[in-house]
Amino acid sequence: MPALTLDPLFADDDRRKILRSTDFTGQDILSVSQFDRDGLEYVFIRAHEMREMVDRIGYSNLLKGHILTCLFYEPSTRTSASFIAAMERLGGSVIPITQGVQFSSVSKGETLADTIRTLEQYSDAIVLRHPEIGSARIAADYSSVPVINAGDGAGEHPTQALLDLFTIQQELGRIDGLKIAMVGDLRFGRTVHSLTRLLTQYDVSLRFVSPEILRLPLVLMNEVKDAGLNVRETHDVADVIQNADVLYVTRVQKERFSDLAQYEEVRGHYEITAELMQHAKERMVIMHPLPRVGEIHYSVDADPRAAYFRQVRNGMFIRMALLAMVLGKA
Ligand code: ASP
Repeated sequence: MPALTLDPLFADDDRRKILRSTDFTGQDILSVSQFDRDGLEYVFIRAHEMREMVDRIGYSNLLKGHILTCLFYEPSTRTSASFIAAMERLGGSVIPITQGVQFSSVSKGETLADTIRTLEQYSDAIVLRHPEIGSARIAADYSSVPVINAGDGAGEHPTQALLDLFTIQQELGRIDGLKIAMVGDLRFGRTVHSLTRLLTQYDVSLRFVSPEILRLPLVLMNEVKDAGLNVRETHDVADVIQNADVLYVTRVQKERFSDLAQYEEVRGHYEITAELMQHAKERMVIMHPLPRVGEIHYSVDADPRAAYFRQVRNGMFIRMALLAMVLGKA
């Protein structure tokens, strides 16, 4: 398989420099590289406030009169639904192009640039999911309203990584000092790429568990090593299960394989079962960006350490916070 290019997106770009503390108004959110620790803390505080507001009263009018476009060129359940829920709970509305761009002018051959230049006329922000690495950045170059990357192929998925990190903090009360194991498709899994990049800002130990052909891309491994983190790769979950504070399990990304025979070789490689969980610490969490297609057995769902549906709910709070911030209402 050809090598993935996952170069940091922001090396020489003025406009999308690190988003410091309150500096989010009008900004695109394209990569986790835009967030420093103060920025992350700020997002988490805002997300926590959103949770309290939803638990107490359910909705607010913070974004009343604002319109978000959700433009999805790839399937989605959680990301699209949570952005829509986030916008609506804040009193805003959504143009949802999520059920298949085949019904939009994309099917007539319209370019991404023209689609973006059209949708920016109607909306105050655009959430984009697209199969090509770097597409969100291209969209942002054409858009005068903030673009939020909801997954650019095998590249990044920054809002997922923010909700993943928020979940770790909520579940375990801290991030520094944790041992975090990522399991599955580390090569094509964009959530793994974004979360790994975010974690280079913390004092964590990382364990990467994958079949040989799905190892973490070298560019990311180098970023982890440059950050001075304790890191190890293995093929076997049994090597990490006893010590992990976080087990972050992922699906093999079938849609990224050009050779389906190769996919068949590696699918079903890992299955986390209730039996395996007996070897894990009493206080730890098992997470998954979902959808799962066999990586976590249903018998694990009743385990209090299974955090994947709490993780889903956190996604709505993080996206509420991000929308409020880029629309200048945080
Ligand atoms: N939902 C996540 C994503 O869009 C994970 C996955 O699809 O496996 O990247």
